[in-house]
Amino acid sequence: MGYIDLHVHTTASDGTLTPSELVRYAKEKGLNAIAITDHDTIEGNMEALKEGDRIGLEVIPGVEISVECPYGTMHLLGHFIDIDNGFLKENLEFLQRMRAERNSKILDRLKGLGMTIEYSDVLQVAGGGQIGRPHFAQTIVRGGYTKTSQEAFERFLKKGGPAYVDKFRFKPEEAIGLILKSKGIPVLAHPFTLAGLDPGGLEEFIVQLIGWGLKGIEVYYPDHTDEQIASYRYLAEKHRILITGGSDYHGNNKPGGDIGVYKGNMELSLSLVEEMRRLRDNI
Ligand code: AMP
Ligand code: ZN
Ligand code: FE
Ligand code: FE
Repeated sequence: MGYIDLHVHTTASDGTLTPSELVRYAKEKGLNAIAITDHDTIEGNMEALKEGDRIGLEVIPGVEISVECPYGTMHLLGHFIDIDNGFLKENLEFLQRMRAERNSKILDRLKGLGMTIEYSDVLQVAGGGQIGRPHFAQTIVRGGYTKTSQEAFERFLKKGGPAYVDKFRFKPEEAIGLILKSKGIPVLAHPFTLAGLDPGGLEEFIVQLIGWGLKGIEVYYPDHTDEQIASYRYLAEKHRILITGGSDYHGNNKPGGDIGVYKGNMELSLSLVEEMRRLRDNI
């Protein structure tokens, strides 16, 4: 039947395993296919695809884009994107430039709070990939300013915290359009983070997203309750879009979860990958 995980992070963003390590780990765990979905970057995909080819594990190229949304945190997954697409690359490079500006502001804030932290320390923690708040958190821990990354988020980096700086985000319709233009399948990630919407509001918003080209909902996700799973599943079935799922595995950067585990013993099968591939061919 095959068993899959459509949401994992590598060192290209804020995961702790390199793309090759991640692919080998997935194989060890008995997975048959994984989608690489780093935040706002596709840099990890090429290495993962090569390693997948080498050891016999299907790697689905992907990305997870942070989107502007008044109802809470919205992330959009793009599966099966063409990683050579020029328009996609340009837009992701733009996001990288915006992140670089934001990172220097975060660093200034931390210095302003009395910390002796240099950008080179943060670069070292990130190991060559994109820099984000989790890397600042680890650097804060290394500097001895907090005991854990979680504490660094709570005291400094969380939204509204003294070192928090907002990041540029595309609008939902722009991000969906970007995924579609690069031949990918846009999927709403972990809808529970759209916390500002009641069930009726969520349905209305999803209908709007479908109008812009959304093709699926990440129904199975470690943080979803059974009730949330049932209601997201209902919405996906009612509006005839894909039901997907994934672990959001980040290695040691997000303790507790493991690759391939999205809810109890729930396992999505390779037939979903086939369905997505057919859908992609019609985009
Ligand atoms: P960034 O894209 O730089 O804003 O970083 C976002 C990442 O930070 C998320 O993917 C989470 O892994 C992590 N994160 C965000 N908020 C928290 C929090 N309150 N505690 C721990 N990690 C967090
Ligand atoms: Zn992350
Ligand atoms: Fe996410
Ligand atoms: Fe994620």
